[in-house]
Amino acid sequence: GAHLELIGKGKARTTFNDIAGIDQVKGEIQEVVEFLRNPRRFLNLGARSPAGILLVGPPGTGKTLLAKAIAGEANVPFFSAAGTEFMEVFVGVGAARVRDMFQKARKRAPCILFIDEFDGIGQQRSYSAMGNDESVQTINQLLTEMDGFDDNTGVVVMAATNRPAALDSALTRPGRFDRVIHLPLPNLEGRVEILQVHARGKKLAEGIDFKRVARATAGSTGAELMNVMNTAGMVAVRRGAKVITEDDIFQALENIQQEKLGAAGSGG
Ligand code: ATP
Repeated sequence: GAHLELIGKGKARTTFNDIAGIDQVKGEIQEVVEFLRNPRRFLNLGARSPAGILLVGPPGTGKTLLAKAIAGEANVPFFSAAGTEFMEVFVGVGAARVRDMFQKARKRAPCILFIDEFDGIGQQRSYSAMGNDESVQTINQLLTEMDGFDDNTGVVVMAATNRPAALDSALTRPGRFDRVIHLPLPNLEGRVEILQVHARGKKLAEGIDFKRVARATAGSTGAELMNVMNTAGMVAVRRGAKVITEDDIFQALENIQQEKLGAAGSGG
């Protein structure tokens, strides 16, 4: 079957403390957390259970992190699979894997079932690299599993993609993945907050101006900002320092830039 990663309860949990720059979508996210904490109570109040939630944004903007944080806040299990794991040459294999995945998740509900690289599974048929029949069957199985949800199953499906236009329209119809949470590149304020998240637990010199760093990193994703802070740590270690200074951070930016240029050069 498909590789299904399970991050159980009680381990080092990811929470909203670990993710920054998501203020615009906090309300929507909080609702999902409330649902997962107590699906029955939520449904007794007459609220609709969240069907599928689509997380849309460029690579490294925190889609996986957000799904994990929602599971962490609600203290429920987090299952994860990649859409590409359902791309199979043989008709019926992808569908069987989808069935298997939902079966496992239902046993541990309430929980989050996260599907990364969702366009791998749900590509518009004309874009698909798989045989057409296989793609159709896999998508249909996914829709069957989602439609078949007893309102009390409490499996919230979150799917991530950076190419929403490539998704099969059957997936985005009402009642399916009809909620979309956009995770764009962080703005200046968001970058300041993300840098601060990744400064946590590191020894920093006093008075570092994160706004200055944020201004120098326009267009960067959360993953890239994390890399900046980690690289700054290494720069500090290399010069034998005990704390990371603002100069180390800017040196890190330069090193990363050089590396990119090097990679581009050697790549031909
Ligand atoms: P991909 O599309 O490549 O799977 P993604 O959008 O799922 O990327 P993540 O894997 O969640 O991105 O991000 C990678 C890492 O970057 C996270 O584990 C986290 O450390 C950091 N990161 C990304 N976005 C944020 C954010 N908004 N706040 C804090 N850290 C972030």
